[in-house]
Amino acid sequence: MTRLIAITIAMLIAFPPISRADLRVFACEPEWASLAEEIGGSHVETSIATTAFVDPHYIQARPSLISKVRRADLVICSGAQLEIGWLPVLLRKANNRDVMPGSPGFFEAGNFVLRMDATANTDRAQGDIHPQGNPHVQTDPHNIAVIAVALGERMAQLDPTNAGAYASTLAEFSERWETAISKWEERAAPLRGMRAITHHKSWVYLERWLGLEEVANLEAVPGLPPTTAHLSKLVAQFENGGADVIIRSTYQDDRPSDWLENRTGIKAVMLPLTIGGTDDATDLFSLFDEIIDRLLGATQE
Ligand SMILES: [Zn+2]
Repeated sequence: MTRLIAITIAMLIAFPPISRADLRVFACEPEWASLAEEIGGSHVETSIATTAFVDPHYIQARPSLISKVRRADLVICSGAQLEIGWLPVLLRKANNRDVMPGSPGFFEAGNFVLRMDATANTDRAQGDIHPQGNPHVQTDPHNIAVIAVALGERMAQLDPTNAGAYASTLAEFSERWETAISKWEERAAPLRGMRAITHHKSWVYLERWLGLEEVANLEAVPGLPPTTAHLSKLVAQFENGGADVIIRSTYQDDRPSDWLENRTGIKAVMLPLTIGGTDDATDLFSLFDEIIDRLLGATQE
């Protein structure tokens, strides 16, 4: 028995069970954890607040999340008020000075790109109106390219020992990413001019990128579930044409888009808004493969 304990101790010394990563990243959404992993490789350890199956506007600041923020060196979120309903509570409860807004350990991806649809109206009682501009910036890979550079610099600043490694993996990633963008743009060319009804205003950056036209939303009030009255209006508006596709995201109720599809014949399609939203969307590259595949599929039926 004593020998067993001695062996166990020897093994623990040789193979410590907890390896402390150089940079502990807490991401509000899966896409930012993936981006940090693309840049940081084995130097980073990531945890994520949300999944593709929950609405990133509305989650609970659970104790498990609080403890992860408390241990984080870097918090990465979309920003532009996407997480305003839960992130301030989470940060306050975690009480980690290193990742408070304004500190280098707090990174809002949306701040590094030009946000669409900013309004002067800041009354969130009218629904999620994205007053600081649309926060769903990950749906345009050109945005991700810009954010990757800013994130790489931030990671190097926080973990200067590995600054060289971050810079070289970032350069590699950026090159692969640009190649992928060209490929996506070529494949998505037939989507140009496609008229889309979207559940929520989640896809404005994708639409701008690929030349889609957003003609309506299923949500009458952004952020609130579609109402029967509004859906009936959409039937009247589109039963004789005017739209080519109805888009919802993984976490959104499929009934409104299916209902509208049944009454208008407009093809409803589910797109992953982030990694994990479909089985094949396992990283940033396959996420865009999936989005484009599914949109192309909708044009062929
Ligand atoms: Zn939104």
